[in-house]
Amino acid sequence: MSINSEIPTGLPALEARLRQDLAWLELPAKRWVVERTQNGKPLLDVAIIGGGMAGMAAAAALKLIGIPAVIFDRAPEGFEGPWVTTARMETLRSPKQLTGPALGLPALTFRAWFEAQFGLAQWEALDKIPRPQWMDYLRWYRRVLSLDIRNECEVLRVTPRADQLVELEISSSKGCEIVLARRLVLATGRDGLGGPYVPDIAKILPRDLWAHSSDPFDYNCLKGKRVGVVGAGASAMDSAATALEAGAFSVDMLIRRDDLPRINKGKGAGNAGMVHGFMSLPENWKWRIRHYLGTQQVPPPRGSTLRVSKFENARFNLGCTLLGAEARDKGVEVRTTVGTFELDFLIFSTGFMIDWWRRPEYAAIAPNVLAWGDRLCTQDEPGGQEMIDSPDLGSAFEFREKSPGQCPGLDRIHCFCYPAALSHGTVSGDIPAISDGAKRLAQGIAAHFYREDIDEHFARMQRYDEPELLGDEWTPAEPRKIN
Ligand SMILES: Cc1cc2nc3c(=O)[nH]c(=O)nc-3n(C[C@H](O)[C@H](O)[C@H](O)COP(=O)(O)OP(=O)(O)OC[C@H]3O[C@@H](n4cnc5c(N)ncnc54)[C@H](O)[C@@H]3O)c2cc1C
Repeated sequence: MSINSEIPTGLPALEARLRQDLAWLELPAKRWVVERTQNGKPLLDVAIIGGGMAGMAAAAALKLIGIPAVIFDRAPEGFEGPWVTTARMETLRSPKQLTGPALGLPALTFRAWFEAQFGLAQWEALDKIPRPQWMDYLRWYRRVLSLDIRNECEVLRVTPRADQLVELEISSSKGCEIVLARRLVLATGRDGLGGPYVPDIAKILPRDLWAHSSDPFDYNCLKGKRVGVVGAGASAMDSAATALEAGAFSVDMLIRRDDLPRINKGKGAGNAGMVHGFMSLPENWKWRIRHYLGTQQVPPPRGSTLRVSKFENARFNLGCTLLGAEARDKGVEVRTTVGTFELDFLIFSTGFMIDWWRRPEYAAIAPNVLAWGDRLCTQDEPGGQEMIDSPDLGSAFEFREKSPGQCPGLDRIHCFCYPAALSHGTVSGDIPAISDGAKRLAQGIAAHFYREDIDEHFARMQRYDEPELLGDEWTPAEPRKIN
């Protein structure tokens, strides 16, 4: 059977091949982690918050090495992450060839999934991956790996305990329940330890005059309106284009920089050395690289920029720093360094920030997490707030305590979301290196479990009594006479 053919072979054939590949590789490995109970109830080995791409890749990588994981996500099934909820780009930025969460299994790649349904010619004709199609692929990924994802389960509270367990309070249609896990992974996304960043001027405006680009928001209500979009990144272009396509009277892009960034330095720096070597770099190099990438900024994709500029009523106002904004009888007056704009609505496409206080589920751990800013005050380059607030993680993405002994069990919580980037590089969110990050996480967790349970593993070793030789394979030689 050839998957790589002009004639699509269909998903059942691909799934058969995946099963065969896994069988040839003897995967998934058998469970080996010691089963623990609490008051007669089995404990979860690993709980994961977040069933987006990162949470699923983490669960899959754990499963392949014999560690069961349960994922909790507040989103309905098939609607995890931004792809078909708040994202507004037509296609992914990431090149179609990236193997994403496939964990080294060819039959698990987006390409295999696509070709199985549409054939090689269509794959070659495809430019970028349409956004909703990426979500379809992730839905298939979940199904074909039989991942244990509990949707519409919101984690309200996370409490590390002195008995080395992590307690989760989970709300679902069944009510509130307490779940205990030996380890917890936070795969909570780009805003995973905070939320959207908005400048202070937004905070004094009535909420019906503005939105953040990541808000669920019906752009059809912008028909006929004068819209301002603050920012010039990918999401700014997507917001502007969506507003224009919805019939906005005009869109003014308010761009602080004198020019748009043109080069994606992070993409240029992506190679196996960066993926595997970043984590063990001296901390001043980590800081320097992340600071450089942060100041260079990522350009918006060309396609997204053209999607905006093809509208005559779109204006790119460069060198336009916001000075203030006031609500008026009709809309909002925005003062900037290039003049005043009379607008009906503002969209802040200003990214995300780490802000523990916006995440009540982390109230018990927030004050205790060691951040880069707690240790590194003497860097040559000051770094932005996001770097200062980034958690300073261990080699398995585990949090570390600000004051040792203050929050026992904190190191049982693993941060597998974007804010891990300063410690580990970009392996815990974006498509390019998500499999590498997931494997690092899974292997790190495996090592922790093995060390923790070493008494039991040693006892198992001693109890193990399956003979390989039965004693009938040889005959001892007659004792030799010694002269
Ligand atoms: C608009 C937009 C476009 C992007 N485009 C690209 C792209 O083209 N290429 C690329 O590589 N990356 C892109 N990214 C980055 C993107 O977020 C990630 O690649 C991808 O979504 C990361 O997956 P994730 O699992 O880390 O996070 P997410 O997909 O965001 O998943 C996190 C999940 O955690 C759940 N969750 C959070 N808190 C809780 C809680 N307390 N209880 C229960 N569930 C919870 C959420 O419901 C969510 O489903 C884009 C991001 C955005 C915002």
